[in-house]
Amino acid sequence: MLEVSGLTKIYPDGTLAVDDIDFTVEAGDFCVIIGPSGCGKSTTLHSLVGNLDVTAGAVSLDGVEITDQPTHNRDIGLVFQDFQLFPHLSVSENVEYGLSQLGIDDREKRRRTERLLKMMQLEGLADREPEELSAGQKQRVALARSLVLEPKLLLLDEPLGDMDYKLQKRMERELLRVHREFDTTFVYVTHDQTQAMRLADQIIVMNDGQVEQSGSVAEIYNSPNTAFVSAFVGDSN
Ligand code: ATP
Ligand code: MG
Repeated sequence: MLEVSGLTKIYPDGTLAVDDIDFTVEAGDFCVIIGPSGCGKSTTLHSLVGNLDVTAGAVSLDGVEITDQPTHNRDIGLVFQDFQLFPHLSVSENVEYGLSQLGIDDREKRRRTERLLKMMQLEGLADREPEELSAGQKQRVALARSLVLEPKLLLLDEPLGDMDYKLQKRMERELLRVHREFDTTFVYVTHDQTQAMRLADQIIVMNDGQVEQSGSVAEIYNSPNTAFVSAFVGDSN
């Protein structure tokens, strides 16, 4: 389980991006954070993964406090919207990269990489470089590269943001399949309410640096706690 309490981030210029938020995510759940542009979604993910110095708050994963742990010790992966693949490495080298950094032996590296390439239906593309891939294929490589490290928690920041609607729908189905097969906790950020409804076990609605409501899809849509939640989720109908 992921437990976040009192998380606050004030950027050096004084912007209060995340304002004392609390939430929990059950192990194995697909949690979706929604909210308007600028409400603090990305700042929250970057705080969880340890890319940012947080101003205050505590984060724990499966009962272990990780607030002061460096990123590489947190057991958390992050997939960005723009993928950030290594352009001069092949697909399989991109996937293997993090394993080499961890000092995992060659046999285990090969086993894990082959499993992920298969799971992501990338076996036929193992020797290509990123520029020879479609957007959906690049997204699958980015996912494989994070999942190969077998993180307890995978954070995804609008990973389907730049794709056309048809590809988004296909990638949503793949994400759900991978989430089931891989049995890890996902925290997924989007500002698309209907996408949240299709993917989530749990939805967290953020607004202006705060958590407005956290609950199941049914709770959020049938019993919104605040006028903001009601209006925000109502926009999709
Ligand atoms: P979007 O949906 O547009 O991606 P978001 O919900 O991810 O938005 P954040 O990127 O977390 O929002 O930004 C939250 C607030 O913090 C915004 O007001 C933004 O302008 C501000 N902010 C983000 N990064 C910085 C930074 N490096 N320095 C100062 N302010 C920042
Ligand atoms: Mg963002």
